[in-house]
Amino acid sequence: MPRFGDLTRDDLIEWCKSQGAPAFRADQIRGWIFGKRVNDFDVMTDLPAKLRAQLTANFALFTSTIVSHQKSTDGTEKLLLEMFDGHFVECVLMREDDRRTICISTQVGCAMGCVFCASGLLGVKRNLTGGEILEQVLRLDRLLPWAERITNIVVMGIGEPLANLKNLTAALDHLNQNGGMGIGARRITISTVGLPDKIRELAKIGRQYNLAVSLHAPNDELRTQLVPVNNKIGIEALLQSTDDYFQETGRRVTYEYVLLGNLNDAPEHAHQLVQLLKHRAAHVNVIPMNHVETLPFVEPNERRKREFIAILEAGGIPATIRKRKGADIDAACGQLRLKQEQQLVK
Ligand code: SAH
Repeated sequence: MPRFGDLTRDDLIEWCKSQGAPAFRADQIRGWIFGKRVNDFDVMTDLPAKLRAQLTANFALFTSTIVSHQKSTDGTEKLLLEMFDGHFVECVLMREDDRRTICISTQVGCAMGCVFCASGLLGVKRNLTGGEILEQVLRLDRLLPWAERITNIVVMGIGEPLANLKNLTAALDHLNQNGGMGIGARRITISTVGLPDKIRELAKIGRQYNLAVSLHAPNDELRTQLVPVNNKIGIEALLQSTDDYFQETGRRVTYEYVLLGNLNDAPEHAHQLVQLLKHRAAHVNVIPMNHVETLPFVEPNERRKREFIAILEAGGIPATIRKRKGADIDAACGQLRLKQEQQLVK
């Protein structure tokens, strides 16, 4: 049965008309799902009974099932969802002060092969559809009490978002359209391994998404070692595309940098990073390494981390350290799915 979330708002308007219902019904239906958190077409009491029956007969609202729901002592919650075809993805809800930030996945697995990342260890199976991306948002939204709403979205779960850009933007568009959740592009951050053509494509669609680029190394030799797709791209070409992104959208770009002990964490690397970014509207988000079983990488000690940040700041580059969330529940994306898929192949 077709998945409701795979329809765009325009598709839904067309569908309503095809059923002899006026166009405004589309936003009414959307309002029930996105605003009133209803999971069943049949309780949409201001719709004619016939239309409710047509919706129920034609669409499934959820096609995934929750196979695991973990709760951390810091308020972070994580869902492992099983897709209709037996594949798994993860999504996370994080709580901090007034913020309710969710982290969502875009692919089953990942083809990029970053050597420190759990998501890519089994390669990529397929793209998620727009509806499957949207389902994660809806599932996480329903974990919140009535008075609380999702405030921010980070597309930093499993997969390379820009390798599935069309489905991702279709899903995200729903959120800010009439009848949606009132989450605008400025509260959404898309994290990418850094695919220049796709970064330009994203800039051209005219939304104000925050762009985060997984740089992780300040020179090509090291970056290619850690992020193998760099071999075909190169830092220079990548930064040209992020400059274009800034020109086009006016949004300052964030560069993610996972600190790996004795690999990319030397003072020299911080100095090189300053040289790369000092004339750009940039911000560096230093990410502590999340331990992945079977991978040898370790987190540097506190002194080394502080020294790295201090060099960036002295060079005029704003830098923050990402807070670790849900450490007690494997909340770093990719780990739970990896365990689940590995259990299945054993
Ligand atoms: N494909 C996207 C999203 C990846 S996940 C991208 O490459 O940006 C979001 C961030 O977490 C990326 O910067 C990614 O490189 C980083 N990451 C992956 N594995 C990690 C680990 N084990 N510890 C810390 N950060 C990790």
